[in-house]
Amino acid sequence: MSFHTKTVHQSKKVSKNFNSKVTPIYQTSSFSFDNLDELESYFHGETPYLYSRYGNPNTDELGSAVAALEGAEAGVAASSGMSAILSALLSVAKNGDHIVACDDLYGGTYHLLDQEIRSFGIDVTFVSFANEEEIRAAIRPNTKLLYTESITNPLLRAENIPLLVKIAKEHKLITIVDNTFATPFLLQPCVDGVDLVVHSATKYLGGHSDISAGIVVGREDIIQVAKQKVVSLGANLSPFEAWLTCRGIKTLALRMEKQTRNAQFIADSLRENENIAKVYYPNNVSEKGNGAIVSIELAPHCDIRSFFSSLGWIKVVPSLGGVETAVSYPLGTSHRNLPKAAQEKLGINERVVRISVGIEDRQDIINQLLIAIKA
Ligand SMILES: *Cc1c(COP(=O)(O)O)cnc(C)c1O
Repeated sequence: MSFHTKTVHQSKKVSKNFNSKVTPIYQTSSFSFDNLDELESYFHGETPYLYSRYGNPNTDELGSAVAALEGAEAGVAASSGMSAILSALLSVAKNGDHIVACDDLYGGTYHLLDQEIRSFGIDVTFVSFANEEEIRAAIRPNTKLLYTESITNPLLRAENIPLLVKIAKEHKLITIVDNTFATPFLLQPCVDGVDLVVHSATKYLGGHSDISAGIVVGREDIIQVAKQKVVSLGANLSPFEAWLTCRGIKTLALRMEKQTRNAQFIADSLRENENIAKVYYPNNVSEKGNGAIVSIELAPHCDIRSFFSSLGWIKVVPSLGGVETAVSYPLGTSHRNLPKAAQEKLGINERVVRISVGIEDRQDIINQLLIAIKA
C-alpha cells in the first residue's frame, strides 16, 4: 500500500463490543457491510443500521429512553423541538385535513401551524383550550387532531389533559401534547391517553443549554410514520447531540426536583411584592410540583429596561430549562411573532418577564431577582 492509501486505511476500526459503561458515540454518517447479503439483510430488518439519517444507535437510544420515561410505546429523536413537532403533525395530518390548536402556544409552534402547516393545505383553527365549548365548536368533519402544551408558555396554564382525551375520543381525533415545560418528571400525558407527546429536548431533557434536539413519543403505529417523516425531511438528530441528551436525562429527576422546589419558593416570595402586578405559576400540575418556570408582570410604574440591566449573575437568555437561572422577555423573543391581538388577549405585554429557575441556592436567586425588581 502506498502512504496515501495507508493514511486512510491503517487505523483499524474497532467494531467489537468492549462493554463500555456508557454508550459510545457512533459519530458516523453510514455503516459498512461485508457483502451483498449483509446489505440486503438491512432491508429485511435483520441488520439495524445503514445510514445515520435513517437511524443511528445514539438517536435510537434517546428515542427509547424518552419513550420509557413517558410511559409511551415508542419514540423518535429529531434535530430540534420544531422538527419533532413538524414530524409529529405530518405523521397525522395531510392536505385537506384540519387541526384544532390551542391559542396559547410557544411562538415558534404558532408560526409553524399558522404559516408552514397551512401551506401544506392543512387548515388550522386556534381557540382557547381553557374553554371546552370553544374546542368543541371548532371541530369539523375533516378535523384530525387536537394540539396543545401540557403547561403553556409563557403564562403557565396547566392543560386539562383528561378532558382533551375525552373530547378527542368522542370525535375520533388524535391528540398531540408538547410536554417540554412539564417533562415526564411531572406529567406523562401518554399514560393519560394522549397519542403523541413532543419535546424540545433543547430545554429540560438536555438540561445544560448546550444542544438543540427534539423528540416525538407515543403510539407505536404513529411513531413508525413519524420516523419516516424524520428520514424524509432530513430532521434527524446528530449522534453527538443525542449522546449529550441521553447524558442530560440521567439527572432529569434531580434537576427537576430542585428546580421545581426553587420555582415554588420564588413564586411564593414574589406574590406580595408591591412592584409586581401578577405572578403566573400554576398550582395543579402534579403532586411532584408545578414546574420550574415562573412568569411575572411588573407593576405599571416599573421600568422594564432597568429590570433587565440589573440582573447581575442571572443571564438574559431567550430560552429555558438549563441548570442556570435565566430570564427571558417573551414579547421581544419567543412571542414576538404572535399577532398583536393574540398577545393582548393572552396578556403578554411589555411588562411580562419569564424566569427559568435553575439549580442554584434559592436564597441567592431571590436576592438577585429582588435587586432587579427594586431597580
Ligand atoms: C423551545 C420550545 C419549542 C421549540 O423547540 P426547539 O428545540 O427550539 O426547536 C417548542 N415548544 C416549546 C414549549 C418550547 O419551549
